[in-house]
Amino acid sequence: MNTSNKIPYRFFWTWDHSTNWILNVPGEQITGVCNPYAKEAPLFEQDYKRAIDWCADHKMTGIGIVGMLRDRHGGVDAARRVCSYAREKGILVYLIAGLFAYGGIYYEGDHKYSLNRFFEKNPDAIAKAPDGSNVAVKYKGRYGVKDELQGCASNPFLHEFILESLDWLFRVIPELGGIQMESTDNGVCSCPACLKRRGVASLEEPISLADMAAIYPDASETIRRVNPDALIICETYHHFLDKECSIFADKTPSPDLKKLLAMPETTFWQWKCDQMLKDGEWRVGDEMIENMKRFRHIIRAHSGTQWWGGRNTFAVDNIRRQCLLSQSSGIDSVSMFGETSPYHSNIEFNYLALEYFADDPKRTNADFIIDIMADRLGGKSNAEAYYEYAYLFRKDYTKIPSAVLDIAKIMASLSDYDAIRRFNYLSHYLNTYYWELSRGTEMSTMIPRDSDRFDLTQKVI
Ligand SMILES: [Zn+2]
Repeated sequence: MNTSNKIPYRFFWTWDHSTNWILNVPGEQITGVCNPYAKEAPLFEQDYKRAIDWCADHKMTGIGIVGMLRDRHGGVDAARRVCSYAREKGILVYLIAGLFAYGGIYYEGDHKYSLNRFFEKNPDAIAKAPDGSNVAVKYKGRYGVKDELQGCASNPFLHEFILESLDWLFRVIPELGGIQMESTDNGVCSCPACLKRRGVASLEEPISLADMAAIYPDASETIRRVNPDALIICETYHHFLDKECSIFADKTPSPDLKKLLAMPETTFWQWKCDQMLKDGEWRVGDEMIENMKRFRHIIRAHSGTQWWGGRNTFAVDNIRRQCLLSQSSGIDSVSMFGETSPYHSNIEFNYLALEYFADDPKRTNADFIIDIMADRLGGKSNAEAYYEYAYLFRKDYTKIPSAVLDIAKIMASLSDYDAIRRFNYLSHYLNTYYWELSRGTEMSTMIPRDSDRFDLTQKVI
């Protein structure tokens, strides 16, 4: 439980394929899940080293990478160099991996610890739908080309394979900061062993907390045997106030759950908060689940991304609320997406907001404008103008031309290059929306509805 006035741990969450800290590079992708990596291989390291530099300068704790281990961008050797660079700067780079899907530990390639290769050789370890077919998610569109098979959480060979993969991972990359592990949110297995283990399964589709309990404790123990200091982050895919999480408070816990609750108190549990922030259902003072208070906790959000608001949207108020509510609930870590270069001034302010509000969650947006934005924009009134205009494309796009004229006047009054660059960025950003909206393009074409997981199709194949 965090009882201090600040939130000490701060993380960036990223996919390798859409992390673009180096600008103007062929192969950039700005959206997607499970995409191919489309840049030249050296860009993987260059992008992440740039992101690590930011983290070192702004009190960040670490960066998580999905797809860290791919043949396409250098496999283990490249990952080691990134992790090593981060260690030199005091930053932890950690692997984000699905244990029962999403490629496993070696995300993509011809490798012993690729989960997809394992499934090819061990089809019995694939989760089964009630009709006996394989459980998988098909990723369509936006570069998605993969069918992600789901593993059976009761299969002993798969269990052993996962533990062996983790043991290998932390030995082969001693510089690795840790892991965010996921049981995966792609569906559950309905084989007799899984049904028996999970018990009442009514709330367990497509995510199973019982499946997490079946693997997280053993996975954690395996990792800690190799690296006792590794960050162990267990993804839950839930907010701790979700009704499904009552399983953690079960008065008669299953053997798996008992093991889970006995994990070391340095274990991080990661919760999402987007819907709770949107609905206002998470309130100041809401308490963590009693049984889980002894652990560390991360609240993650998708502000300013393809999932919420659109990539590069200005999301300072969301980040402020994320920090305020986290601190009031005793959470000691916050996480946001870190895929985009702070050249995008909106994103620069979002990143700075995480630092500013994690340092003191009781600060206000008005404080942020004065303390953080004013210096970077040539004064308080300029900062207020930026704050007002940044979201104008959503509020009333017809006002964008007059806002741009005002921004032009502000720019003409400035002599600081960086302040001019930031306003120039904002002006261009707004103009692109005005150009499209005034020509009849629907907003939902550019920024899909907030709650959509728009690039996934849940499908049994
Ligand atoms: Zn099963």
